[in-house]
Amino acid sequence: MAAHTSFSLLRNYTTTGRIAATVRTSLGLSAYPSSINFLTANRSRRYLCRASATHDEEAAAKAAAINADNGAPTIFDKIISKEIPSTIVYEDDKVLAFKDINPHAPVHVLVIPKFRDGLTQLGKAEQRHGEILGQLLYAARIVAEKEGILEGFRVVINNGPSACQSVYHLHLHVLGGRQMQWPPG
Ligand code: 5GP
Repeated sequence: MAAHTSFSLLRNYTTTGRIAATVRTSLGLSAYPSSINFLTANRSRRYLCRASATHDEEAAAKAAAINADNGAPTIFDKIISKEIPSTIVYEDDKVLAFKDINPHAPVHVLVIPKFRDGLTQLGKAEQRHGEILGQLLYAARIVAEKEGILEGFRVVINNGPSACQSVYHLHLHVLGGRQMQWPPG
């Protein structure tokens, strides 16, 4: 009976680590190797998911970079004009901070200049941008305080396709609310 159950599970779910573990256990094999198999299979699946997500992000970043400097508005212009709704964390006349739609941490807020003024990416910064760059950093600190992560947070700027920048309107990622790893990927 146990063998029959195992066969059905194997037939239906042969590709999953979870069921591979169930099959081994039901055949009377030691639970310890089963759990190792279970973990190994799931870990490799998680790795594959991460690898595939990374691949998607890299492809999206490469595609976005093609039109980086054509002056076209980005999705952030629609967020600034409130045409696209966002959860605003902080706003003044120069800076807007809103929650990232695809957060990578319990707190993940984007801080952007309201006027792009050529700042499609940090690599385009000129001396005249010094003031707004300072304001963006200070806004990141305000966001960290508002979000309750002042004692530990990370500020990230992805610049260009090799850093996976996907929106060509300068933005700071403010991340926190969990232990950050170092070095970053
Ligand atoms: P990048 O990859 O360029 O460094 O970061 C762009 C960020 O913008 C990404 O983390 C992405 O999740 C975020 N994003 C893209 N579209 C939207 C949107 O429509 N709303 C919000 N809130 N975030 C967005």
